[in-house]
Amino acid sequence: MVDNLEELGEFGIIDLFRKSGFPPPEDAWAGIGDDCAVLEGPPGERILVTTDMLLEGVHFLRGGTGPYLLGWKSLAVNLSDLAAMGGRPWAAFLALGLPRDLPVSYLEDFRKGLADCAARYGIPLLGGDTTAARKDAALCLTLLGRVPAGREVYRSGADPGDRILLGRPTGESAAGLALVLDPSIDLPDPDREALLLAHNKPEPQLDLGALLSLGGLATAMIDISDGLLRDLGHICEESQAGARVELEKVPVTPLLARFAAAAKKDPLDPALAGGEDYALLFCVPPQREEEALEAARRDLGIRLHPIGTVTDDPGILLGRNGEWRKPDRTGYTHFRT
Ligand code: ADP
Ligand code: MG
Repeated sequence: MVDNLEELGEFGIIDLFRKSGFPPPEDAWAGIGDDCAVLEGPPGERILVTTDMLLEGVHFLRGGTGPYLLGWKSLAVNLSDLAAMGGRPWAAFLALGLPRDLPVSYLEDFRKGLADCAARYGIPLLGGDTTAARKDAALCLTLLGRVPAGREVYRSGADPGDRILLGRPTGESAAGLALVLDPSIDLPDPDREALLLAHNKPEPQLDLGALLSLGGLATAMIDISDGLLRDLGHICEESQAGARVELEKVPVTPLLARFAAAAKKDPLDPALAGGEDYALLFCVPPQREEEALEAARRDLGIRLHPIGTVTDDPGILLGRNGEWRKPDRTGYTHFRT
């Protein structure tokens, strides 16, 4: 047994709570290990629950991202977890740990960002908790959602042969973060602003999640918070499968390409390993791939990106020109970088 948290890692810690001590959930419920927990609701419906914590000094700096965008983002990332199950939002709860020296104007801007996001998606705030903190602020948002029973999409349903699709290109959020950390990267202002927006104001793909869930199109789904490869790894683990990703198929936007040239980076690095894209990543049976592409184009006006195939063999392989190799960097986890 390891005795420090860094060695145990974020997922080791979660496993500690997942494996022991608590009574088992009821049959149709699903708990730890997916984007949301699933509970039986009124007849024909299931209830989804997700919660996310933002800590000062870990997820945000008081002098960094403005509090308005922080408020927006704290709800948007929870909405993205709902989208990843195919659900629709229902109600929110907010827990705050606030140090005495936090300016009221900071809290007021945070509230406005949160409320604007809630208004955009029609979500009431129904409760929470407020407490004083010693030094750093802690903001914890819990979101409830709903999905027709049986239409919820888990991480665990992928079958070998399924196609792997991306709901939109990834990497711009990581590029935005790189710009925050290194403002000397030479980019024109409009590009800089667009990348910062991708990082600070992510758009949850709720309509896409609902389209795939209601159409029974996706066998497995996740939203990309930890990076494309790492989150694909979560689908593979939960589905007891592996994946092959064709690098030529991984989309790189012109904006990301311009950033990569300016930062002297391979654009595939942020696209594959950068986090906080909040794009949906999902699997579709091969015979339904065309239908999924067409439904997204027709109903939502968006283009889906097929990037690979689910395999029997565990692990992820990356392919270029018919050659396959293991990825060397699979994304970011807390406690272990
Ligand atoms: P996401 O990136 O989608 O928010 P996480 O990687 O944070 O998901 O969490 C993975 C799973 O572990 C989720 O099902 C979450 O509810 C669960 N989880 C995380 N932390 C804890 C904890 N301390 N106790 C119980 N379950 C947890
Ligand atoms: Mg998630």
